[in-house]
Amino acid sequence: MKIKLGGIYYTVCKVLDLHDGEQKLDGQLKHSEASIYLDSVLCPQAEIQTTLHEIVHVITAQNGRQDMGEDAVDAMAFGLMGFLRDNPRLVKRWMDILAVK
Ligand SMILES: [Zn+2]
Repeated sequence: MKIKLGGIYYTVCKVLDLHDGEQKLDGQLKHSEASIYLDSVLCPQAEIQTTLHEIVHVITAQNGRQDMGEDAVDAMAFGLMGFLRDNPRLVKRWMDILAVK
């Protein structure tokens, strides 16, 4: 799957047993590869939250806010997920407005 963020298309890949060295990861952004890696065992809800987490990393990096810590990135990801889940009619209306015609 590809996600367009800013001017870059990121490839989203599921990986079995995702690690960074000894550290177990749910997700990982690699700017140099324009890739987002997700652990393949994540349940669907965790996969969505983790994808949003990595998307927030991309957005903050592209806008000069690499200083946001993991806690703030996670807060944004959980907040966005809650907003999307709690407001499906509003999200659909906005998507209809923003759709390329
Ligand atoms: Zn992170």
